[in-house]
Amino acid sequence: MLFADSYLQSVYDRTAARNPNEPEFLQAVGEVLRCLEPVIQRRPELQRHAILERMTEPDRFLQFRVAWQDDSGNIQVNRGYRVQFNSAIGPYKGGLRFHPSVNASIIKFLGFEQGFKNSLTGLPMGGGKGGSDFDPKGKSDSEIMRFCQAFMTELCRYIGPDTDVPAGDIGVGAREVGYLFGQYKRIQNQYCGVLTGKGLSFGGSLVRKEATGYGLLYFVEEMLSCMKQDSVKQKTILVSGSGNVAIYAVEKAQQLGGNVVAMSDSKGYIYDPAGIDIELVKSIREGSRQPLSRYVEHRTSAQYTEGCRGIWSLPCDIALPCATQNELSAQDAEQLIKNGVSAVAEGANMPCTPEAVSLFQQAGILYAPGKASNAGGVAVSGLEMSQNSLRYSWTAGEVDQKLHQIMAGIFHSTFDAAKEYGAENDLLTGANIAGFLKIADAMIAQGVY
Ligand code: NDP
Repeated sequence: MLFADSYLQSVYDRTAARNPNEPEFLQAVGEVLRCLEPVIQRRPELQRHAILERMTEPDRFLQFRVAWQDDSGNIQVNRGYRVQFNSAIGPYKGGLRFHPSVNASIIKFLGFEQGFKNSLTGLPMGGGKGGSDFDPKGKSDSEIMRFCQAFMTELCRYIGPDTDVPAGDIGVGAREVGYLFGQYKRIQNQYCGVLTGKGLSFGGSLVRKEATGYGLLYFVEEMLSCMKQDSVKQKTILVSGSGNVAIYAVEKAQQLGGNVVAMSDSKGYIYDPAGIDIELVKSIREGSRQPLSRYVEHRTSAQYTEGCRGIWSLPCDIALPCATQNELSAQDAEQLIKNGVSAVAEGANMPCTPEAVSLFQQAGILYAPGKASNAGGVAVSGLEMSQNSLRYSWTAGEVDQKLHQIMAGIFHSTFDAAKEYGAENDLLTGANIAGFLKIADAMIAQGVY
């Protein structure tokens, strides 16, 4: 990757040399460094304090064996990870991902991004992420429980309510968080807010399940209103994925008057021009996690097509990638632009490739980066931590109102930072700058570490 600024080039080259075979991590670092060029030029002391060199090296990277017994009595071995990236502005905070694709590169890219996202929320949370290459698909409930217990038996040494607070991500929902919490409590003999995304009966927050999807739409509504004097109402919308983020993005988009016509899973996509029946999607995907293709068995207006990427060939006004990293390529972006898309907002982490992002920006399409637009989940996780510390629960209305305010605030700090640093309307640059400055100032104030 090439940079105009020689200092940024040296930071990137050093990171690349130290982290070979980690393409996702280097992609995330490269994107942030590129956006920080005007900041580095304006604030030379950042180089003197080696802020970028320190930020691109995690505080700690933990890797551990997770051995557990399957239902047939066989011993299975997986690999567990936790990266504690940066704690300058608060305890490490970020989800756990259980998916066979998980490796050091993916965990480090997610942990690096998470720090900037958490900073944007305005809440006191540092950056972290974790997970395992364990595949929950096809496992029995008892196997999931035994795996979660084995994973937490090791992880519990490194986390705590004021140290590091994990949550869910791909493959980790309320069920897994419940098993993880139970094991932490059993080992440490402490009932505390060590995880977020917990069940409502044991310290979870109302609206946490909905938060990332709802927050995405609050961000999109604010972006459309401020940058185009427009709204989600009557827009044709595509949402990739059909997991936690996608489902609640669709629900809120419909509440705001948008027409969501397609969703996907890792195998294919459904197109329903009459509008997605979100309750039907929930009944198929939540809990039993059946394939999305079953949707067309119940809806005559819908078609199912094999191959998840095909979703981006459908005409739309707004595209919301909510599945996984690098799911939307340059080719997909060209197709969307040709079909008249006017806004793209990321519900997933880094779902658009750098080439796709450049194409959107060159075509003048509104583009919202995930670290800003999908921050609603961690924002409500932050609110869950506050409620746990207070030993108190806010109502759904109170949490939703705070989420709405936080997402509007993130849009404005992103938009304003872009303008201040000469990159007007470039929300990617704005998000990286706004998220970065708060962490950088805290690091300088706290001395060399
Ligand atoms: P889930 O596990 O609930 O859902 C993931 C969904 O994506 C599933 O429908 C899965 O299908 C689908 N999927 C996976 N790969 C592809 C692909 N290549 N193309 C299309 N669909 C695919 O995860 P979440 O909804 O929690 O997370 C989704 C994204 O959002 C991730 O990038 C995550 O990091 C990010 N995120 C999540 C937050 C949260 O609060 N949950 C917060 C912020 C970001 P299948 O079931 O077939 O595998």
